[in-house]
This record gives sequence, C-alpha cells and structure tokens, in this order.
Amino acid sequence: MQRSLVDRTITIDGTNEADMAKVREALKLVEATPRGRELLEMQLATGKMLEIKVGDMYVGNSAYAGGPMHINPNYREQILTADGPIWASFERIVGHELGHAVTGVMYEPHNIALNENPIASQFNPPQPERTRPWCGLPCGNKW
Ligand SMILES: [Zn+2]
Repeated sequence: MQRSLVDRTITIDGTNEADMAKVREALKLVEATPRGRELLEMQLATGKMLEIKVGDMYVGNSAYAGGPMHINPNYREQILTADGPIWASFERIVGHELGHAVTGVMYEPHNIALNENPIASQFNPPQPERTRPWCGLPCGNKW
C-alpha cells in the first residue's frame, strides 16, 4: 500500500506520544484538502523530509522556511473571522504553520491568504476564513 503523503514528507519528533498522535491526525485532515495536498506535494518535490518538533515547551506555534515547525498541541489561539472571534482549530493551526514551512512565506497576511484560508475553507465541514481588518495593504479586507 502506498504510504500517505504525510508519511512520505514529514517526520514528527517529540516525547509525548499522545501529542505526536494529535499532530499526525491534524496533518491527515490537512492532507485531505486540495491546498494541503498541494503543499505536501511541494515538500515531496524537494526530496527532503520536513521536521515537526512537538512539545509543551513551545509558547505558541511557529515554523521556519524549510522547517522545522514547532508545534504545541495544547496551545490554542483565538482568531478573527467574519462571524467574530473563534478558537482556531488545531488542524487549522497545523495547516497555517505547514504553509510557512513549505512556501517560505513568512508575512502573516500573505500566509493566511495563500495557505490558511484555502485550507480552512476546504476542510469538511468548512471552517470560516480569517479576516484581517487591520491589514493596511491593498488586499481588500479578507486578510
Ligand atoms: Zn504565521
């Protein structure tokens, strides 16, 4: 059987098996979206594995271009949507950081527009797009 794109492109490092399993589950949901799949295929094309370091010691979630990603499954954040503030789902956070790591786009409004919002809207069921009303760029008000 063909291994999943996630298994072929990502290594998950950590000491807490339950937290690492949460990251793997979130990645599967991301892989099920067209944009998430595209990102994993971009990673596959590099011929390198992307490393995700998982742990409670990370305050927030972050990623370097090309990796590693730092993910704390117990850290939650609120985001603003057209429907008001919501708690970001964990799979959404993982999709966001994957976007940074694979595309190298570090500017938040661009990563949200290019990666996070497409992935969020492609989840089943779809999750609301994040709004960025403070964005001063000529990017409309959807970032
Ligand atoms: Zn970000």
